[in-house]
Amino acid sequence: MRNIFLAMTTLAVAGSCAPVAWAKAPSVAQLKAASQAEEPVFLQRLEQLVDIDSGSDNAQGLAAAADCLAGKLTSLGLRVSRIAAPPSAGDVVVGTLKGKGRRSFLLIAHYDTVYPAGTGRNWKYKVEGNRIHGPGALDAKSGIAVILSSVAVLKRLGFDDFSTITVLFNPDEETGSAGSRDLIARLASQHDFTLSAEPGGTQRLLATSGIARLTMTVTGAASHAGVAPEQGSNALVEASNVIARTRDWSLPARGLKFNWTLSHSGQKANVIPDQAEASADIRYLKKADVDALLVRLGTLAASPSVPGTQVAFAVAYSRPPLLPTPLSRQFAELARDAGDEIGYPVEIVDQPFGGASDAAYAASSGKSAVVESFGLAGQGNHAVFKEYAERDGIVPGIYVMSRSIVQAGAGPGPATAPQHGKLER
Ligand SMILES: [Zn+2]
Repeated sequence: MRNIFLAMTTLAVAGSCAPVAWAKAPSVAQLKAASQAEEPVFLQRLEQLVDIDSGSDNAQGLAAAADCLAGKLTSLGLRVSRIAAPPSAGDVVVGTLKGKGRRSFLLIAHYDTVYPAGTGRNWKYKVEGNRIHGPGALDAKSGIAVILSSVAVLKRLGFDDFSTITVLFNPDEETGSAGSRDLIARLASQHDFTLSAEPGGTQRLLATSGIARLTMTVTGAASHAGVAPEQGSNALVEASNVIARTRDWSLPARGLKFNWTLSHSGQKANVIPDQAEASADIRYLKKADVDALLVRLGTLAASPSVPGTQVAFAVAYSRPPLLPTPLSRQFAELARDAGDEIGYPVEIVDQPFGGASDAAYAASSGKSAVVESFGLAGQGNHAVFKEYAERDGIVPGIYVMSRSIVQAGAGPGPATAPQHGKLER
């Protein structure tokens, strides 16, 4: 895709005689009015989506949600495909829209929720004042609705100053995106910008933490706890020593959080335990910080404080970190400028708070500038009967996404590499 961009730029610079027939960019006033006009449709779409029970392991619900999403994308004029995403129980739904410009945009959100099948029977979509309640109303079905409405607004205003807008809805974010992460990374590598629509409200995130899990296994020697405790080597005590000595090893200033979360040891109350296992949650920005942590842990393991015990560590990485790039920052600044135009203060957040999302997979190729959190504000995600999205963010949310795309779409050629890119306008 990048080569195609280069070829297109060369063609334009070479002074082709045929003028590029872009429709005039929609004005601020047009975008404001169109975003406002979308609100009732946004709420209808969100209601339909929220009332489909689509927990990550609910194949039937995911299929119904995918049908619904494919239908909505088709009616907006996108070319739609559904891609099986094993081990996920659902399909990835992808919609594509071709324009006449040179810059490309990938818009992503997930349609699975954390809730078990049947949750939706007793917990339906409901609007109360400023709160839109229901399973997934915030995370991330509000984000899906922002994407659908933004595309609808751009279509209605005849905006075509982009090469491609691709929409991707995945069914497995809440379980780690094992079935969709490669597709997200591949599509992102073919687009200049990726906008991810996890809940966000006024915030736009440029950084999310990487996640790893550390497992500690301690082996000791069993013995009767009452009769001959001195003949045992207590694995639980050694594991506890390590936990106590490492509990302050987080480095908040570097974005490294290291916290012990699970432990298991022993079989019987009267036996010195010969096995103990514990795991820790690690959030990081730089893998080198995890490597340094492992070196320190290795030093501890080399000299256990309980004689006769052995300590071993293993680390498993899941989501990579998302880091700011010059180009992602410039896109976020367009979002902030868009917010300023309507009195909606967009805050650019370039330090991670510990959460992680699919945005990191999108950034993993290094070829797309990735900005996270185009979904609505709200509370209670992952909490049954408590989750809600805030209605007053709908119109600004649609405006900020669509206006940023209009602004980033304008320009002389494809955006340059995110790492040192400049968004020429
Ligand atoms: Zn989410």
